[in-house]
Parts: sequence; C-alpha cells; structure tokens
Amino acid sequence: RQLPADSIDENFCRQVSGALFSRVQPTPVKAPSLLALSVDVAELIGLSAADCDQQQLARILSGNELLPGMDPHASVYGGHQFGNWAGQLGDGRAINLGEVIGPGEKAWTLQLKGAGPTPFSRQADGRAVLRSSVREFLCSEAMHYLGVPTTRALSLVLTGDRVVRDMFYDGNPKAEPGAIVCRVAPSFVRFGHFELLAARGDLNLLESLLSFVISTDHPDLATRLSESDKDARRVIYLDWFARVCRSTQDMVTHWMRVGFVHGVMNTDNMSVLGLTIDYGPYGWIDDYNPDWTPNTTDEGQRRYRFGQQAAVGRWNLFQLANALNPVIQDAETLQSMLNAMPAEFERARKEMMAGKLGLPAAAVEHPSFDELLGGLERLLCSQAIDMTIFYRCLIEYACQHDSSPVSLIDVISPALYPLAGSDRTGVVPENRPLFRDWQESYQTFLLQFAADSDSRRANMRAANPEFVLRNYLVQQAIDGLEQGDRTEFDSLLRLLKQPYTDLAEADQRFAARRPDWARQRAGCSMLSCSS
Ligand code: AMP
Ligand code: MG
Ligand code: MG
Repeated sequence: RQLPADSIDENFCRQVSGALFSRVQPTPVKAPSLLALSVDVAELIGLSAADCDQQQLARILSGNELLPGMDPHASVYGGHQFGNWAGQLGDGRAINLGEVIGPGEKAWTLQLKGAGPTPFSRQADGRAVLRSSVREFLCSEAMHYLGVPTTRALSLVLTGDRVVRDMFYDGNPKAEPGAIVCRVAPSFVRFGHFELLAARGDLNLLESLLSFVISTDHPDLATRLSESDKDARRVIYLDWFARVCRSTQDMVTHWMRVGFVHGVMNTDNMSVLGLTIDYGPYGWIDDYNPDWTPNTTDEGQRRYRFGQQAAVGRWNLFQLANALNPVIQDAETLQSMLNAMPAEFERARKEMMAGKLGLPAAAVEHPSFDELLGGLERLLCSQAIDMTIFYRCLIEYACQHDSSPVSLIDVISPALYPLAGSDRTGVVPENRPLFRDWQESYQTFLLQFAADSDSRRANMRAANPEFVLRNYLVQQAIDGLEQGDRTEFDSLLRLLKQPYTDLAEADQRFAARRPDWARQRAGCSMLSCSS
C-alpha cells in the first residue's frame, strides 16, 4: 500500500509482521569527525585506511553519506529481558549499511550504532552518547585481542550533536556529546530474531531465517537444506542448534577466563554465532566476587552476575530451542542437548581453569581437581583479591616452586586490596590457613603434572592477561575525551592490542589494582542499562 507522504511519520514507529527488516535512512548529523579507526578491522573489510579521505570516511561512518550499493536497513527482533518476554524490540538505534566482501571472500555486515531512529526505536531517540560509544569501541577491540569471540568496531565518530540523557550523575537531564560506532560482524542475528517470529506464529519466515542463517554462516551444513525431505532438514537444524550451544559455551567460558561480566545477557543480546555483542553496562572483575554485576538495573536480582553467566547462557539457549521447535518438531532431542549442557559447560570451565593454573587438560581427571578449584574459589572470595593480578602473579609461583621454595602469599601480594585487620603480608590472619592449604594442594598438582618452566610460563601467560579494560580506566579515557584530551584513550587503544604482554615500566599503572577512589564513582564500577 502506497502511503501518502505526510502519513509516514505517524507510521514510522510500528509493529512489523511478515518481515524481518525495514529500510531506513540514517539521520544526518551536524559535524561528523573521526575519533578513532581500527586499522585492522578496516583491513578485514578490504579497506586501506591510508587511502581514505578522512572527512569522507567520517561522513560515511556517521551515516551522512552512503556509498553506491549500500542499502540501509534495521532489523526487527524480540527477546527475553531479565527473564521476561519483552515482545518486539529490534534495531532501535542500529542501522545496517549492508554487507561487504573482504579478503578471503569473507562477508562482513557494517552496522552504525547511534545513527538515528528506526521503526523499532519505540520512544527512544536512536542515538548514542560518547561515553557509551567509547565503551563499546574499546571493549569490542579489547575482547578481540584477548581472544574472546566478539563483534568488532571499525570506527568511533563524534557527531557534533548533543544527546540528552537523564540518568547520569545526579539524575538531572544532561546534554552529552553524541557519537556513532560502526560495528562489524559476519552477522548480527540474535536469538531474539527467532523468538519474535515464533511468538508471532510466523513459522514460514522462521524457517526461511533458519535456512538463511545456516547457508550463510555454515555452508558445510547447508548442502541438504533444499531437500524436501523434512527429516533430512531436521537433522541439519539440530546440528546448527548444537553449534549455537557450543559457541555460546565457548564465549561464556572465555568471559570467565578473563573476568568479563556482560551485564545484560537478555536473549536479544545473544548472537547465534556466539559473539559477544551489545556492550552496555558490562564490567571487569577487579576484586574477585562471583556475585558481582556491573549493571545497576540488575542490582537486586543479580541475574547476570559473573558466576551465573554459564547458567544464563543455557537458559537463553532454552528460549531459542523453544522458538525453533515449532519448525524442528523434535522437542526430545532439543531437550536432551540442553540437558547435556551443564556437564559440558562444567567440563569446559575446568579445562579453562587448568589452563589458567598452568596444568594440562588431563589434570581435570585427577580425583582432587574439583577440590583444587573449590579451595581456590574459597581463597579468592575470602578477602578482596584482584583476579587479573592474582593469576598473573601465580605464573611466578608455578614456575619457581621447584627451584626455591616461595610463599604463595608473598608472590600474590600485589593482588591484595588493602584491608583493615590484615597483617604485614596483606592477608587477614584468619585467612592464612586457606592460603597455606591451597598452596599445598597446588604444589602437589604442579609436581604431578610437571612441565618445564618455559612452556608452563608461556602457557600461563597466554591464558592470563596482564591488561584488561578495567571500568575506571575507560571512565578516565571518557573524562579525557569529554575535555578534548585523548591521551588516556590512546593509551588504552595501544595497550589493549597486547593484553598478554608485560607492560613497560611507564605503563605499569594500567595493570595495577583499581584505586580506592574508583570504587564508588559513577561509571567506574557499576552502570545503568540506558545510555
Ligand atoms: P539494550 O538493553 O541495549 O540491549 O537495548 C534494548 C532495546 O532498546 C534494543 O532493541 C535497542 O535497540 C533499544 N534501544 C536502546 N537505546 C536506544 C535508543 N537510544 N534509541 C532507540 N532504541 C534504543
Ligand atoms: Mg541490545
Ligand atoms: Mg545496548
């Protein structure tokens, strides 16, 4: 139906059925300027940054200029938010520019986040502020270099417009600089795309989406998709679901390894490729606490706390299975795959932990391995101990123990946050037995699974980052940028590319414990969902 031009606005925000996307134009911004460009993401998509006119790049990456062949669109999805079905959501502030084929025939979707309203923006403005865009830009890239599956970030552009947000600092509306991140991924399909179609009973479109996703992301599975034989297709769909389970598990296991808390694991924020997506109120564990969440919106329930991410991943996969079953029609197999997940997750977690401890995967079979991990958990929870620093220090312990006896407490003392009641070593006296006992059992494992120190050291250094993007560091970079000073931002950008390398003397502070002033400061620890 042809709409009269003047009714388009009224119909702009809408429920959409029978389709998965709407064409939409980015809303031009006032004065786009390029704040940062990831040179290696540019290379991924076959763009040589040096050849580009920086101003044109800023225009394109803010949505002010389209290149021939770009066909901007926003997709519609639904999702479970904090455990409840939320209905239609969709790309409310993300606009896909299209797909580009990079070197090696790999296809990448370019998506502008903050490029203006879409038909799925509901009451919101479709914009993003500088601080949330900086957080997304830096963390996507940091995760990539840490070896965690993630969407990438090509660029960070200042729009020159102000954006009003009312939730920050003192609760009063505040105009902030606007910014746009260009995200890049093989696909931005989320669990919620399938859930929305299932909720609407649009099974034809659901099956089309399923075969589209399989044939684009998993060509090796796609061969028999066109067969009319339902059973043959069912087998492929189940294989695909198994891969989604597997990649979700891998992603969450990496999060646990590096101390990352996503903060908003709603099903609309879950990628079917197992990529970390949607960097909102995420955070990094400083002092170890499995109950910590960076999301103030989740403070009561703590649904998305660090230690619960594997269980939530499985809960989300359950919602995906529910959505798929009307097409797959094999609840029994789907259920059995989900039933197997806790054990598989646990196995993956143990092997990951063995790696962090410098032990081979075979160590997880040892009858005392669970006790070793249990003792470590008790130790790390007993008083404020920095997770990242602890493991990095542990490398020294693991590689020295047979040459000269060292005390675990002495080795890990840089990880201890100052505490009233602690002794000279920084340990609270009543916790000493925990350290002593754990040192003893760890020692037993190190001896039993002997390795030459060079390879043990190399393995541990590859599993335990020296540098993670601590919340307060990003906040300092944001504070700087808001004042026109990009020094701190540039330092982070440089350091996040080599998270496993020892920092130079001059950069030591970036790997230090979170300073005391950052504990409660806005943006330095916890954040709210809306930004
Ligand atoms: P999130 O909690 O970031 O995953 O966002 C949930 C939903 O709200 C998604 O569908 C977003 O696209 C939408 N959304 C968040 N912020 C905005 C905004 N400023 N304008 C339009 N939509 C938004
Ligand atoms: Mg989202
Ligand atoms: Mg978000």
